[in-house]
Order: sequence, then C-alpha cells, then structure tokens
Amino acid sequence: MDFRLTEEQEMIRQMAADFAANEVAPYAGEWDKNHIVPYDTIKKMQELGLMTIGVPAEYGGDGLDWLSKYLVCEEIAYGDAGLATTMIASTLLASDPIWVGANDEQKKWWYGRMLEGATCGFCLTEPGAGSDALGLSTKCVKDGTDYIINGTKQFITNGGHAKQFTVFATLDKSLKNKGICCLMVDRDTPGITIGPEEDKMGIRSSSTTQVIFEDVRVPGWMMLGGEGAGTPILMETLDLSRTAIAAMATGIAHAALNAALNYANERQQFGKPISSFQAISFMLADMATAVETARLLYQKAAWLQDNDLPFKIVSNMAKMYAADTAMKVSTDAVQIFGGYGFVKEYPVEKYMRDAKIMQIFEGTVQVQRMVIGKYLSQNGYHPYA
Ligand SMILES: Cc1cc2nc3c(=O)[nH]c(=O)nc-3n(C[C@H](O)[C@H](O)[C@H](O)COP(=O)(O)OP(=O)(O)OC[C@H]3O[C@@H](n4cnc5c(N)ncnc54)[C@H](O)[C@@H]3O)c2cc1C
Repeated sequence: MDFRLTEEQEMIRQMAADFAANEVAPYAGEWDKNHIVPYDTIKKMQELGLMTIGVPAEYGGDGLDWLSKYLVCEEIAYGDAGLATTMIASTLLASDPIWVGANDEQKKWWYGRMLEGATCGFCLTEPGAGSDALGLSTKCVKDGTDYIINGTKQFITNGGHAKQFTVFATLDKSLKNKGICCLMVDRDTPGITIGPEEDKMGIRSSSTTQVIFEDVRVPGWMMLGGEGAGTPILMETLDLSRTAIAAMATGIAHAALNAALNYANERQQFGKPISSFQAISFMLADMATAVETARLLYQKAAWLQDNDLPFKIVSNMAKMYAADTAMKVSTDAVQIFGGYGFVKEYPVEKYMRDAKIMQIFEGTVQVQRMVIGKYLSQNGYHPYA
C-alpha cells in the first residue's frame, strides 16, 4: 500500500495550498465579517482552473482524477470553507449530475459555459423537502418538446450568482422515485427569480438563496437521461459530492488544529506553555488523530472512485466522520484558546461556525448514519469486498 501522492497530485495540491495561503486565508475573516462573496478571488480561481476541476479532459478541462479534485477541496477549505463551498457546489455538486447522466450534447453545453466562467448551482432542497429529498414537489410538465418547471428551491448555494442550475423536479408526485427528473436550466430563462441572501452562521463568504421557478420553459434536450431518470442520477451525485464535503471538513479541522497547536505552544500560564500540560497535549493528540483519520477516509473513498469500485458506503462514512471531526476539533480549538477563542479577533470561532454546516448539508450526519446503518443490516461489514 502506497499512501504517497503522485507528482501531478502533489503539484495540484501544492498549487491550491499556496493559493489558499496567499489569496484566501488573509481575507477570510473580512469576508466572513461583512458577508462578502469574493468575486475577484473566484475569478482568479477560474483562471487557475480551480473552478473547473470537475471538467473532464475531453470537454476541455484538466481531466483530474477524483483524489486530485478532493485535495483541492481540502486545501481551499483550509483557507476559507465558504469559498470552498462556492467552488464545490459549482464544479462538483451541481456538475456531478452532468458527469453521471449527461449525453455528449449536454456535456458540451454545460462544461463549455463553465470554462467560459459560468458558476453553477444544484437545486434539490425545497421548503418542504430536505432530508426527504425525493419527496420534492417542484413539477416539470411536458408541453410539446419542452418542459415547464414550477416550484421553489431552498438554500441553494451560489443562488445569487450561478449562471446555470441542475434542477430536480417530478413529473407527478404519485410516481414517487420513478417520477424524478433532472434538468439543466439556464439562469436567464424567463420565470426564474432569486430570493434574498440568507444571513448565515458560517460559510458567510458563500451565497445561499431560494431559487423560484414560475412557468420556466426548458427545451426537452436539457433533461438528463430522459423522463424519470433523476433518482439514480441524484443518488450517485450525492455519494460523489459527499467525498468532497469530507475533504472540505478535513480542511477546516486541520486549520483549527494548527491554530490551536501554535497557540498552545505560545500561550504561557503558570510559567509554562499550555501545551506542556497533559490536559492540553492529550486534547491536541486526539484532534490530530481525528484529522488524520478523516483524511484517510476521504482519500480511501477517492481511491475507490478512481478505481471504479463501489464507494457509496465509504463516501458516506467519510462525510459523516469528517463533519463530526470538524465540529469536535474546532470546538476543542476554541477551548484551547480559552477566552481568546470566544472572540472574533482569533480565527477559531469562525472554524467552529463554518464546521457546523458540514454536519447539515449534503445530507445531515443523521442521514449518513441511516444510509450506512441500512447498508450494514442488509449486507454486513466486509472491508475487503
Ligand atoms: C448553507 C446551506 C447551503 C445549502 N446548499 C444547498 C444546495 O446548494 N442545494 C440544495 O439542494 N440544498 C442545499 N442545502 C440544503 C441542505 O442540504 C438541507 O438543509 C439538508 O439536507 C437538511 O434538510 P432540512 O434543512 O430540510 O432539515 P430536515 O430534513 O427538516 O431535518 C431536520 C432534522 O431532522 C433530522 N432528520 C430528518 N429526517 C430524519 C430521519 N429519517 N431520521 C433521523 N433524523 C432525521 C435531520 O438530521 C435534522 O437534524 C443547503 C443548506 C444550507 C443551510
């Protein structure tokens, strides 16, 4: 077993890490405080290819393997999880349905616009359908060769600036899973309105809005996989993007660990650095072990994906474990900073606020436990299967 990155993987990881250190981390506090979506930085990421890491080589992208894509997610999140959310929602989450279920014409349209700078949004959640995503109510009704979409999508990342959406809608709710469709939708199609920006606890440098569809007419060729093909596309998309969230959560946890480590070595009480107290040192040991484990899990999921092996359970485990780790490690980092951890002058309270959403979006950690638990009860646990 060889855990080393290839030369290409290390190159892209280092490029993302340098970008995060120079162009992201120094400004993340200001973006957070003032709720700024940093469009100039997103533009620089576009120029470096970071906003198009999901585009295959045959459609003009860099054709990265999954591990490389997720290394980028971890490094950008180390600098700012809000910016990482913007990137992941566009180039992975919203674009994974294209990867999974689009034909050549659809891929050319979607990826072509991305390479020209279009950001993307993924429209699944609704006010009445969150964890029960397949209980969605947004309708798509056939009219000639077109489909007419009506419904409201809730909490859409990049809602405020996305130029194109993947939208999940139902032909007829009574058809349940078999009625779900996935459509590519141009933001400028008449009938789309964008709600006000949500004022969030964390990842405040990302845009989150409602996206409302009122008699939005979409040509039939923009439906992925045909009528009723949406459910398997959605399921695979969520499994893929859960690995990305795991990588992002690992980045937050790593940043919180490093901040706590540096502080613990500098802060003196009772005439000694607080890192010399066993209570602090054991906490740091547990934090580092959890960060390492979170990274191993998401990288195993990536390896399975890169080798076309079943990855669903490991990606769900990785997302759940990394999200819980980001929350625990960032909370412990605040503890190690003492009173200074509780004030906004230091970065750790932001890590804690950013970490919370990792346990909520892309399916809550309760949903991941449901997926893993159901699989175990049906199949047992076979690590080498
Ligand atoms: C900042 C942000 C960005 C987001 N970005 C996007 C996006 O880009 N696109 C998109 O489509 N969605 C997005 N979401 C939506 C997100 O995926 C949902 O919020 C999430 O899936 C949970 O749904 P909900 O909020 O309706 O909670 P609910 O489903 O109402 O859950 C409430 C609580 O009940 C628990 N629960 C629910 N069902 C069960 C069960 N069967 N067993 C045990 N516990 C259960 C949940 O775990 C949770 O703790 C975003 C949300 C936020 C806040």
